[in-house]
Amino acid sequence: MASSNQQHEPTMRCPGCGGDMDDVHGDLVFDYPGLTITVTEVPMMQCRACNERLVPGSVGVVVSQLVSELHASMRQFEANNENMPAPTDSITIHYSANGASRSAAIA
Ligand SMILES: [Zn+2]
Repeated sequence: MASSNQQHEPTMRCPGCGGDMDDVHGDLVFDYPGLTITVTEVPMMQCRACNERLVPGSVGVVVSQLVSELHASMRQFEANNENMPAPTDSITIHYSANGASRSAAIA
């Protein structure tokens, strides 16, 4: 069951240097053999002092689930099409707060 209330994360301190952290959006890149998955617009915290970046746990869960599903489907495609090269070795997707945006831009 998904909760409808958006939980506000308390102000975070950088675990590295104790500095203030800002809410930012950034890209996360996952490298697999033969496949790179980039998730853009991921909400995260960034330290003003040392640029350390932290992804909130709830966001990390969504991102890792999305990326592992994508990776699995690419592997399955390769297994089903042994004589064909993979259609792409680089996928870029946008993070979306309600789960994942499935409109993958396959480049
Ligand atoms: Zn810091």
